[in-house]
Amino acid sequence: MNSGHMDLLSNALLKLNISVTPQIIEKFSVYRAMVMEWNKKINLTSITDDKEFVLKHFIDSVMCASFSGMNDINKIIDVGTGAGFPGIPLSIILENKEFILLDALNKRVQFLSEVIHKLELNHVKVFHGRAEDLGNDKDHREKYDLCLSRAVAKLNVLSEYCLPFVKINGYFAAYKSRSIESEIKDSLKAVELLGGAVVKEKDIPLSDEFQLEHQIIYIQKVKHTPQKYPRKAGKPLKNPLK
Ligand code: SAM
Repeated sequence: MNSGHMDLLSNALLKLNISVTPQIIEKFSVYRAMVMEWNKKINLTSITDDKEFVLKHFIDSVMCASFSGMNDINKIIDVGTGAGFPGIPLSIILENKEFILLDALNKRVQFLSEVIHKLELNHVKVFHGRAEDLGNDKDHREKYDLCLSRAVAKLNVLSEYCLPFVKINGYFAAYKSRSIESEIKDSLKAVELLGGAVVKEKDIPLSDEFQLEHQIIYIQKVKHTPQKYPRKAGKPLKNPLK
């Protein structure tokens, strides 16, 4: 990849106070090459331009590293990770945290297994399955300090996928577009029902600087999720909580 685009990434990481080493940049570069290679066989991303890829996949994904509660977070799950966003970029820079990547599509999971092996991401595991099923599994329910998700579902549906994974006092971070006021409003009831409360986080400086259209909505887990949630696979999307 053009070194100018990687400079853009280094610059963004420095602004997030992440120390940038040649090894980190090399991992991003190998990952990018693997996405492009596998994208010929399976559908991973429609973004193929180098600069756009760095901005919309890499820099957008790492934005969560600036979260004020990050120091207390050890265990992270990325729900509906697809080609690994935001989970893989974050795991490259946050090597001392444990990551679980979850996706319902087996081909993407196979791709991610290769990425984890090639980049030697020993602190990352990938799971094939649906959030509704894993969220009811005692080994995963309320076991995570942070649940991430980008471009998977509307906030009310996503809350039912994600909040069951989060421990009390942990967070669910939804990567969303900038104009999502009405989506937040429509999901307040579901968030509360599932044990969450929307918290305000200061605006992320990189969004403006790199003209990213995303923001991150942080929801804190304040109560246990009632046992009946998540409902069985497919139900949250078909019949969202209101
Ligand atoms: N997060 C990635 C990103 O931002 O590029 C991928 C987004 S892609 C549009 C949505 C992904 O969510 C797909 O890979 C799909 O298989 C997965 N997905 C959708 N519903 C899911 C569910 N209930 N449980 C697990 N994965 C799900």
